Amino acid sequence: MQNKYQSPWFVEALQAEGEIKINKLNTNIITDICIVGGGYTGLWTALKIKEKDSSIDITIIEKDLCGSGASGRNGGCMIPQSTKFTAMKNIIGIKDAKKMVNATEDAVYNIRDYCLQNNIDAKIRMGGVVYGATNKSHKGAFENLLEDLKENQINSWERLSKEKIQTLTGSKKIIDGYYSPVGGSLQPALLIRGLKKTAEKKGIKIYEQSAVLSFKDKNNIVVKTKNGSVACQKLIFAINAWTPTFLPFLSRSVILVSSDMIISEPINNKLEDLRLNNGLVVLDSNLFTHYCRTTPDGRIMLGKGGNTFAFRNKVIASFDGPSTIEKFLEKSLVNFFPSLNNVKITKSWNGPSERTKTGFPFFGYHPSNSNISYGFGYSGNGVLTCYVGGEILSSMTLDEQNGWTESNFCKGPLELFPPEPFRWLGAMIIRNAVRRKEKLQEQEKRPWWIDKQLAKLAVSVGRVDLEKKENTNN
Ligand SMILES: Cc1cc2nc3c(=O)[nH]c(=O)nc-3n(C[C@H](O)[C@H](O)[C@H](O)COP(=O)(O)OP(=O)(O)OC[C@H]3O[C@@H](n4cnc5c(N)ncnc54)[C@H](O)[C@@H]3O)c2cc1C
Repeated sequence: MQNKYQSPWFVEALQAEGEIKINKLNTNIITDICIVGGGYTGLWTALKIKEKDSSIDITIIEKDLCGSGASGRNGGCMIPQSTKFTAMKNIIGIKDAKKMVNATEDAVYNIRDYCLQNNIDAKIRMGGVVYGATNKSHKGAFENLLEDLKENQINSWERLSKEKIQTLTGSKKIIDGYYSPVGGSLQPALLIRGLKKTAEKKGIKIYEQSAVLSFKDKNNIVVKTKNGSVACQKLIFAINAWTPTFLPFLSRSVILVSSDMIISEPINNKLEDLRLNNGLVVLDSNLFTHYCRTTPDGRIMLGKGGNTFAFRNKVIASFDGPSTIEKFLEKSLVNFFPSLNNVKITKSWNGPSERTKTGFPFFGYHPSNSNISYGFGYSGNGVLTCYVGGEILSSMTLDEQNGWTESNFCKGPLELFPPEPFRWLGAMIIRNAVRRKEKLQEQEKRPWWIDKQLAKLAVSVGRVDLEKKENTNN
């Protein structure tokens, strides 16, 4: 474990635990519900089920350590799904889209309260979220979205003047933008390791370093690891980026792409000067957004999605290493905050983010056995949405008839990507077009027509509804 490349969050969380006791599966066991995957989805699902019926026996099987996937290395930016409302509404209808927006906004407070009640110190700071325009073409990017949110009485965003947004973000690069108080940041690995500890206290059994190698989906369900097995009545796959490989019927439902991050040494004074010593999350309005936040111990972190695309959706080795675009991210940081030009970057890292074609997650049942369910596709927006995912998967597993199980979120993937090699080739062509387009826009130049058309194909896999009428630079 010690030699594996980890995010600084994960290193910090493991250090805080001191000696790590690993419970491996070395025998054959029987349980009511088996969950494969010890990230937010797996843990929240287990905790929700236990909350609903404490007599149910639940076992989680994790191939590495809980949190060694995306949950222990993400940016920790709590961003509700409100910025995807228009796309969701158009694809799945107003009722379900509103439900998701409300649930992910509530998740900000629910996660905070859960941590308080269970003594999890995930360093949560409720600083809100800003989407900023860094060039004229991004000005007013949320106007259509805001109209939609207002019409449906679920709007928490407000457009800020140039002066206000620059004061709030500490960045003169941002010339326009939107702020919502519903959001903030947390230390992602402390959250997942805290959830693991809480789950164990509540009697949920967790086996780590016990990869599931195969499973029998007919009649009695049995999950096999190298040295053991789990027989169960219900099985839940919460394995995120590994899903397309493990469940091939979902291989075209997502595209795996890196999100890359850097973090600085502590720079408390500089952050105070920028007035950024708070929990605010700052994002730009690029398709694959830059996202930025600070930490309570005075560091600044900046990330960006959309760099390394995995062929055949395999979780490739480079996802477990430093970022290949560290220098680019360093430049971006200084671009936002010129006063940070001599700041030391102490670490870079990355990880696979699974983007769906719709831009939001989906949940479903195994085609040959409805006692097996799965959920993923958070598209880079999982810190809050996995909490909701836990609610959804718990309802599905307990056969509850409710607003979630009856929603379009529980109908499996609604749209598919092309098969390989077209998927990867298409992704590269589109990624490069987006890069050229956004580079020219940064220079206040007109992007090529063809690049604008290609970029439109990728809008849904980005993080927000940035579709706006052409030439509305108001
Ligand atoms: C680099 C990065 C930055 C991100 N930043 C943000 C952000 O700032 N804000 C935000 O909202 N979202 C962010 N996200 C997305 C968010 O982190 C994810 O959506 C979320 O963590 C997904 O949780 P999960 O439990 O579904 O998956 P994971 O945390 O990936 O958990 C899946 C688990 O399954 C295990 N597993 C896989 N195969 C097997 C097997 N065969 N047997 C047993 N176990 C197995 C893995 O080891 C892993 O622990 C980011 C993602 C990445 C990669």
